[in-house]
Parts: sequence; structure tokens; C-alpha cells
Amino acid sequence: MTTLEVADVEVYYGRVHALRKLSFTVGEGEIVCLLGNNGAGKSTTMNLLSGLVRPKSGRVTWDGMDLATAKPWDIVASGLIHVPEGRRIFSTMTVHENLLLGGYTVRDRRAVDERIERVYELMPRLAERRRQQGGTLSGGEQQMVAIGRAIVGGPKLLLLDEPSMGLAPLVVKQVMEIVAAINAQGTTVLLVEQNARAALKIAHRAYVVETGSTTLSGPAAELARDARVVEAYLGS
Ligand code: ATP
Repeated sequence: MTTLEVADVEVYYGRVHALRKLSFTVGEGEIVCLLGNNGAGKSTTMNLLSGLVRPKSGRVTWDGMDLATAKPWDIVASGLIHVPEGRRIFSTMTVHENLLLGGYTVRDRRAVDERIERVYELMPRLAERRRQQGGTLSGGEQQMVAIGRAIVGGPKLLLLDEPSMGLAPLVVKQVMEIVAAINAQGTTVLLVEQNARAALKIAHRAYVVETGSTTLSGPAAELARDARVVEAYLGS
């Protein structure tokens, strides 16, 4: 069942035409990946879905909600939770305090405690470092905290903006395995990545985004074999 639908969306920053008739869907339970190079419009798409950027035209709907007009806090409360590019965790707070912040708007404290325990089960490295300050963690661990913090908010749809950025290949693999495990436990995932090789390994379907439009789409395994994707995004 389609839960997120973006149809013919146009976004401008002043005269810059950032999204041009962008269209894609995400079904319940899927991992969908948007692949694209620098400036393709990936972050704009994430900000559109979080209510931080408004479309000039087109349709953006999620679980019956019109994201083109919804308030960012109502979007978060509906279970659409964004892990921003560059992690943005609090460097002088501990791992545990950063995770608690993810539950800031959640009324049910027991749910928050249960989700934090789930994060520690999924990412035992964070459990070991629960009292360590965020700023002293490795890049991979900071990414795990950013993902963990989102989980504590109780996402139905997790938006991940370039989780692999700046990480060594082995760490990218670990982060992607964690994302796949979160999905296997029932959370739908929209993954935005430049690292096509890593993303296509865990995604069910993918779209290629170029200068603000989706130019190719299909099952991830098929796109990974597509000569155009291989040439532009996978190298030799
Ligand atoms: P990157 O991976 O480098 O962040 P991206 O695929 O996320 O790239 P966007 O950041 O969404 O791309 O940018 C899409 C286009 O919109 C680019 O041409 C960019 O220069 C432009 N753009 C983004 N933000 C703004 C802004 N605030 N003002 C003007 N133009 C912007």
C-alpha cells in the first residue's frame, strides 16, 4: 500500500528551480532509495517532506496528510521522522541524553524507555557508550546516535539523508545493516544517498534523481544492473 506519494512537485528557491515535476512513491514496509549526485535535489526533497520547504505545485501526501501545508511539528507527530544530513547530534550531551531528546515530544514515557532499550539492542556499541559525550564519538557512532534518536520518536516512516556521508566503507556497511534491521522490525524507510553501491544493497526499490526530476526507477537489484546506473553511480 502506498503511504507516501510525491507527484509532479515543483520547488523554487527564488529563481533556482530545485525540483522539476519530481514524482515517486513509498509503500508501507519498503526501503526506497533516492539516488543522486550533489545538487540533484535530494536534501530539498527531504526538507519538502518535513514541511521545511513548500512546493509551488504538485502533490505531497503521507498517510492521508497533505505535507504541502502541514506544520513540521504535526508531521513529526504523525510518525514521519527525519535524520538530517550531517547527523546534528549534541556534542556536549551523552549518548543517552541525545537518545532521550528523540522522545522529547512523546507523552508516553514508558514507550520512550522501551524504544531506547530497542536502540541499545540494535546498536550495542551505543549501549557501551551510553555515558560518553556525543562529540567524542566516531562518525559512525554519531550516525548511529542520530538514527537511534529518530527511533525514540517512534517513526512510521524514517527519512535518512545521506547516512553514509564521510564514513569508511566498513562503517557504511554497518550503518546500512542497522537500517535494514530497523526496516525488518516494521519501519518504512526512505533513504537518500550518493553512495549507490551501499544503498542499492538494502533498498527494495530506487529512483535516480537528476536536476530535480526522477529519471529512472525500478527494483533496486534491477537498477544495480542497469548500464546507465553502473556508469553514472557505481563506477567500474
Ligand atoms: P547535496 O548532496 O550536495 O546536498 P542535494 O541533492 O541534496 O545535494 P539540494 O541541496 O536539494 O541537492 O539542492 C538542489 C538545488 O537547489 C541545487 O541546485 C542547489 O544549489 C539549490 N539550492 C538548495 N538550497 C538552496 C537555497 N537555500 N537557496 C538557493 N538554492 C538552493
